[in-house]
Amino acid sequence: MKYYSLKFKRDLDGWGGKARMWKIQILEKYRHDKGLLEHEKFHVRQWYYAMFATFAIAGVLGVFVQPGWGLIALFGPFVHSRLSSNKYYRKWGEIRAYRIQLKTGNYHSPQFAVNALMTKYGLGMSEKEARKALGLS
Ligand SMILES: [Zn+2]
Repeated sequence: MKYYSLKFKRDLDGWGGKARMWKIQILEKYRHDKGLLEHEKFHVRQWYYAMFATFAIAGVLGVFVQPGWGLIALFGPFVHSRLSSNKYYRKWGEIRAYRIQLKTGNYHSPQFAVNALMTKYGLGMSEKEARKALGLS
């Protein structure tokens, strides 16, 4: 089952790909970049996990505490983007996503992923840390 939608774009404000909820956008010039698609698909799966975990918590609270707590479920679709403002959640997600990308993308060099982790997400990672996180050293 395909769990995401995919659109190709001319411009993505400096990004090669983006995932918002189940919707992936990828720059036209990366149309055949299998690794990038797998990277963004991982973010879509993060979104689903965060949403379903929220539904599960809302269900348990709604049944065992008070029905009103079930309304927490309404926040489900937004939990992943809220969590993404947390540096550690973002760091964990991007490291996983780039590991998947490098494994599936068949690139000549992994340096773009090291550079991205160092500069693109406000993670404060050194080159050494980024290489280690990606399993390159
Ligand atoms: Zn990413």
